[in-house]
Amino acid sequence: MAELTEQEQFLVNEYFQLWKEAGVEDLAGPGQRPQRTSRKKTRPTDPQRQVRTLEDVQSWLGDCRRCRLCEGRHNIVFGTGNPQAKLMFVGEGPGADEDARGEPFVGRAGQLLTKIIEAMKLQRGEVYIANVVKCRPPKNRAPLPDEIDNCLPFLRKQIEIIQPTWIVALGLYAANTLTGHSGPISSLRGRFHPLSWDPSRSVMPTYHPAYLLRNPAAKKIVWEDMKQVKAKLG
Ligand code: SF4
Repeated sequence: MAELTEQEQFLVNEYFQLWKEAGVEDLAGPGQRPQRTSRKKTRPTDPQRQVRTLEDVQSWLGDCRRCRLCEGRHNIVFGTGNPQAKLMFVGEGPGADEDARGEPFVGRAGQLLTKIIEAMKLQRGEVYIANVVKCRPPKNRAPLPDEIDNCLPFLRKQIEIIQPTWIVALGLYAANTLTGHSGPISSLRGRFHPLSWDPSRSVMPTYHPAYLLRNPAAKKIVWEDMKQVKAKLG
């Protein structure tokens, strides 16, 4: 075989190096297929695999600018409560009071949520409270699908870490996101649904406390839903 020039040798070395970086260590001779022996060296590190605590989720979130909701926010509203809660409440997104304080459900609707939790013979600090999106949508509009898609990995990770058995989805957007069903809240509420990406957890959709402030008659319906949750909690 003719000797390789310096440039040809360089190209051959590069070629072998590329295969090695792809996890192929057993390079074959002419006419044979190289055998893949390991992918360990080149599998990209999944940032989510490093996230094991709620503090890790906050670090991963950072000064998040993954969607347009970052433009008008004052604070990212991460979530609050018992990091080992068996029961979690998830709303759709922060309002003005929540945006100002960086805490979920602290305005009038939040005060009503606290009363609902206490009526269940629980303290607010015993449950975990979060939202589908962590930044306030302008003028309290509903979060858009791409905003939910961008923010959902953080809520999913929070749920994975907290491991609640039951989740109350407050309002249409939380109910649709957590159950994977697109029906109206009136048809979703009143019964448990599996969490769309983890059927070992159950979701009870119900009306959002802000809706109850406008329609006090619906409080009775929400209480019926909460009684079912309370019965499961024991
Ligand atoms: S809503 Fe979520 S994804 Fe969008 S900027 Fe805020 S934290 Fe990031």
